[in-house]
Formats: sequence, structure tokens, C-alpha cells
Amino acid sequence: MSHRIVIVGGGAGGLELATRLGRKLGRSGAAQITLVDAKLTHIWKPLLHEVAAGSLNSAEDELNYVAQAKWNHFEFQLGRMCGLQRSTRQIVLAPVLDEDGRQLLPERRIGYDSLVLAVGSTTNDFGTPGAAEHCIFLDTREQAERFHRRMLSHYLRAHASTQTDSAHIDIAIVGAGATGVELAAELHHAARQLAAYGLDRIRPEDMRITLIEAGPRVLPALPERIAQPVHRTLEKLGVTVLTGAAVSEVTAEGLKTADGQFIPASLKVWAAGIRAPAFLKDLDGLENNRINQLLVRPTLQTTLDDDIFAFGDCAACPQPGGDGRNVPPRAQAAHQQASMLTRSLRLKISGQPLPEYRYRDYGSLISLSSFSAVGNLMGNLTGSVMLEGWLARVFYVSLYRMHQMALYGLPRTLLLMLSDRIGRSTEPRLKLH
Ligand SMILES: Cc1cc2nc3c(=O)[nH]c(=O)nc-3n(C[C@H](O)[C@H](O)[C@H](O)COP(=O)(O)OP(=O)(O)OC[C@H]3O[C@@H](n4cnc5c(N)ncnc54)[C@H](O)[C@@H]3O)c2cc1C
Repeated sequence: MSHRIVIVGGGAGGLELATRLGRKLGRSGAAQITLVDAKLTHIWKPLLHEVAAGSLNSAEDELNYVAQAKWNHFEFQLGRMCGLQRSTRQIVLAPVLDEDGRQLLPERRIGYDSLVLAVGSTTNDFGTPGAAEHCIFLDTREQAERFHRRMLSHYLRAHASTQTDSAHIDIAIVGAGATGVELAAELHHAARQLAAYGLDRIRPEDMRITLIEAGPRVLPALPERIAQPVHRTLEKLGVTVLTGAAVSEVTAEGLKTADGQFIPASLKVWAAGIRAPAFLKDLDGLENNRINQLLVRPTLQTTLDDDIFAFGDCAACPQPGGDGRNVPPRAQAAHQQASMLTRSLRLKISGQPLPEYRYRDYGSLISLSSFSAVGNLMGNLTGSVMLEGWLARVFYVSLYRMHQMALYGLPRTLLLMLSDRIGRSTEPRLKLH
């Protein structure tokens, strides 16, 4: 029997890995590749704030795992991993239920020779009272779409109302990291578009967006010279930015901060912090950190089992010379690790030593919707180069295009870019349903 590689999680990293391994090893029969995901379709997570604002129709950027598997010589299994038995080398998938709660698939076990865990992360509300109940998180397409529908309902209610005075909508975003900042700008853009389509009882300036950050400035994980122009642009757009404000409680009416402020909000998004899925915490003795990430060595093998790899957001991978810091949870890192693992797994099958992962930071880019983009690019020779405006936007979009290229190849990616362009000229600029 050929070597069985099971990859759990078909996200930014896992799907690229399954596709590459399918082409390299699955096609020739050198290995049997299986991808497991809890969902039937994939959408690249960094697009979710655009789905929430309505500037992206998720149906158009969704990829179907069954078709991708057929085209790229791997097998797809629908299911949510809930357990692991290392002694028999099996993973356990929970029963799959349909929309009405009826069992679609029973509990199953899948055997592996090499297992790769790429199950990502979810937002961490740090146990803040009321957050889980009253905030929307942006971890899945469904959550992003729920936010969009709620926002649209406010506009449609205001539009149908017979009252003569103008209406408003208060939106609070917790966390001024890349997701929170980009969402704030995208929402302001949506407010302008909605008014342009005639839903103008709520004027753009009446969408009152507050961005709340516990740290001393926006984009705490990025260099200050990126944060400053971003902060200025947000203020120009009318976004209220509160820094040094830790949210201590969320209620139906709004958010309370530790220093006693109350921020009224009918729509609340929590976009601060991450943690890996809870089932990783008790995974047959594998080691974790306090946010459930699996501890891995620079080869991306888990610390206690050479046959189990983990990468992307669900793994705590030390950075060499990184003062105890781990590789950051970013699409850029998941993409690089997927490339390395494609090679590592081929080497493992032939019994050769594995390479070590070293994170290469190519820079950070922040898109402020159609208004601006800001960032830096890192090069070996040039050091860090600041970018702003359309050039920054081009590089920002290229990260997604690289993901598409890994999944579809160059010709299809070019066709997709063309169809995006055509779509933009024939469809509303904002999803209005
Ligand atoms: C709104 C938003 C914007 C972002 N913007 C950027 C950005 O601009 N740049 C950047 O570098 N990063 C960005 N990120 C971070 C980036 O999306 C992640 O770092 C990246 O997606 C991690 O890839 P991954 O493969 O580890 O996990 P994911 O892409 O999250 O994929 C995890 C997969 O695992 C599946 N899964 C989960 N649990 C199970 C289970 N038990 N069994 C089976 N399957 C399971 C999920 O369905 C999913 O398909 C953003 C994140 C968000 C939420």
C-alpha cells in the first residue's frame, strides 16, 4: 500500500498542501493523499471582512473541495476531526449532521502514515462577559454573511420607515489589528455605496464606526510607520479610534471598557486575538501552549510525534533567533509552510532528513478599501520599503492571487482575474441581499 498522508483542514495552508501533494505524489500513486475538512467549500479567510461589508460575494470566490480533489489527484472527506489515536495511527471524525440535525455520516476513523494538522484558529474573546452572546466573530463565511445581513436589515428598515428624520447605525469593532482596521474602512465604503444605491435614510456619516483597541495604537503587531498613516486615514473617514481601551463587558446595547466608558452599538464585531480549536488541547498527549496551539519543532513535526505535523495558525512554531517568539498566525506563513511541507513529506517517504522552517517576512500590507492601502515590503537587498496607494493595493491583492495560483495554476488564475473584471462591470458594487 502506498504511503497515506492525511491533511486535516483545507484552509489557506492545508488546501495548498493537499493540492501540491496531489499533483506531485497522488497523480503517480507514490502516496495516497486525503484532505479532511468540516466544510464542503473553502473561502480564503483574509477575504472575510469584505464578505461582511458586502464588497465581496462569497459565492464567487468559494472553492468546492470535491471538485478540487478530483482535478488534483487527492481524496476529500467531509468531517470534523474530534480525536486521535496515535497507537493505531487513526484520526476520529465526529458524525456529520444535516441541516435538520439528522445524521448524514456516522463517526468514522481514518488511518494515516503521516498526519498534517492545519485546522487554523478562531477569534479569542478572552472570556469577556457578553462577548460570545452579543458579538459577531469573523471566523467563517457564515458569520461574515450574518453580519452583512444584519447591517443590511438596518438599512432596509430605515428605508421603509415613514419617519422623516434621518436614521443612524452604531457599529463597534473590538481590536484594531489588520482585520479590525480593514473592516472599519470597508464598512465606511459600504455606507457610501448603500447611499449611492438609494438606501440613503442612513447617510454615510450616520454609520458611526468605533474601533476599540486595548493597546496604545492601531496595528500593534506592525511597525509604527504603517500604523500612523492608517490611523490618519481612518480618522479622515470619520471612524472613531479608541486606543488604550480594554473592553470589559459586552451587552445588547453596547460595550463597557475597563476605564468606565460605554460605547453604544447595535452591531458589534470581535476581531481581537486568536486561539486554536479546543479539541487540540487533549489530543492523545501532544503538547500545547495556552492558546491550544500544538507545539512543533522547526521541521513542523509535533514535539512528541515524528509522524504528526502541524502548521499555520494551529501550530506554535519557534522562530530561530526570534527571542522566544513564534511564527505569526498569518496567511503568508501558512503559504510558506505549505510549500516547505510539500518537499518535507516527499523526503520523509524516502527516509531523508527534513528541512527546517524559517519564516520570511515579506512585509505587511493593509487595505483601506478603495480609499488607500499602506504597507511595507521587505527585500534582502532593499531592506524595508514603505508603500502607499495603488502600488500597495497591487501587492496586497497579489497575496490572494498567489493563493489562487497554488490552487488553480497560472492560466486559470488569469481567467479568474478576467472574470472578476467583467463581473465588476455587470453587477452591483455591493452585495445588496
Ligand atoms: C477577517 C480576517 C482577515 C485576515 N487578513 C489577513 C491578511 O490580510 N493577511 C494575512 O497574512 N493573514 C490574514 N488573516 C489571517 C489568515 O487568514 C490566517 O493566518 C490563515 O487563514 C491561516 O491559515 P490556516 O491554513 O492555518 O487556517 P485556516 O485558513 O483558518 O483554515 C483552517 C481550516 O480548517 C478547517 N477546520 C477547522 N477545524 C476543523 C476540524 N476539527 N476538522 C476538520 N476541519 C477543520 C476549517 O474549516 C478551515 O477550512 C486574516 C484573518 C481573518 C479572520
